[in-house]
Amino acid sequence: MIYDVIIIGKGPAGISTALYTVRANMKTLVLGFGKSGLEKAEKIDNYYGFSQSVSGAKLLEEGEKQLLRVGGEIREEEVISIEKDEIFHVSTTKGTWKSLAVLIATGQKTVKIGIRNLKNFEGRGVSYCTTCDGFFYRNKKAGVLGYNDFALHEAKELIPFTQDITIFTNGKKTEFSEEMESYLETFQVNQKPIQSFEGEDFLEYLVFEDGTQFHLDGIFVAYESASASTFAQKLGIVMQDQSILVNQNQETNIEGLYAAGDCTGIFKRISVAVGQGAIAGRQIIEYVRKQKQSQMSGS
Ligand SMILES: Cc1cc2nc3c(=O)[nH]c(=O)nc-3n(C[C@H](O)[C@H](O)[C@H](O)COP(=O)(O)OP(=O)(O)OC[C@H]3O[C@@H](n4cnc5c(N)ncnc54)[C@H](O)[C@@H]3O)c2cc1C
Repeated sequence: MIYDVIIIGKGPAGISTALYTVRANMKTLVLGFGKSGLEKAEKIDNYYGFSQSVSGAKLLEEGEKQLLRVGGEIREEEVISIEKDEIFHVSTTKGTWKSLAVLIATGQKTVKIGIRNLKNFEGRGVSYCTTCDGFFYRNKKAGVLGYNDFALHEAKELIPFTQDITIFTNGKKTEFSEEMESYLETFQVNQKPIQSFEGEDFLEYLVFEDGTQFHLDGIFVAYESASASTFAQKLGIVMQDQSILVNQNQETNIEGLYAAGDCTGIFKRISVAVGQGAIAGRQIIEYVRKQKQSQMSGS
């Protein structure tokens, strides 16, 4: 089945967009994994329509209920990659979904990894994109930094280039789902906490907290979950200051791909996310209708 639109993220931007597309009778799938930062907000007083303060958790809960009431579909699945040919293929840890349009509404994630020199080797042995840079590690010793399905997925993407792949969890316990565990046979897993990345011009080796070292040619960062910037790097979405660049219609530079909310970096507030969601919803409806019309007329 091909959805009209897949929305990644079930925070205010994603749900707001879905309210428009579902009510316009578009086949809409919302994929959301984990919590929005808004869950932590105890009192919200700058959002329209509440005479008493409302908590972020309540607002998120009501948003999801509202979408379900109008017939929306929400799945608790972590998206790990988006690919595009004539249509979009959105892969989660549980499977792959297809759609004519995609909205990225994943918020803005800040991951603190805390390994010394990691930033210094970015582009010089430290990469965030297996599809972009995997080629440089043909028959070399590669690593993936991460501990869950996202890391396993990235390690899997490296197989065409090299058989020597180690997943470094940096002291974290592994969290691989049953569906992905079979791939583990192909990789080594190293669970030692890492202290620093070392090398001269390029990354050459890792130093663990116990003082031991591990020599390798490069490492791919796939820590926690895929973020807007992960998708951007793989698909070639234009970014500006760590955020997805959109025009006034919430369109990215990729046809059929939209972004809304905090991931666009524009005044990160609930009201803005909801407003951008509405604009994205309207544009997606128009885009999908045009796509279907041209499919019917065979052009
Ligand atoms: C503590 C705190 C207090 C705040 N207080 C206020 C306030 O009082 N007023 C105000 O206006 N704003 C407040 N904000 C800001 C507000 O929370 C954001 O502007 C708003 O939530 C942005 O909505 P969003 O939909 O863009 O992203 P988010 O709400 O961050 O939602 C993103 C969604 O995407 C999901 N997701 C991420 N990656 C993936 C993936 N790979 N696969 C599937 N799903 C994924 C997340 O789990 C989440 O559900 C606060 C923020 C914080 C952290």
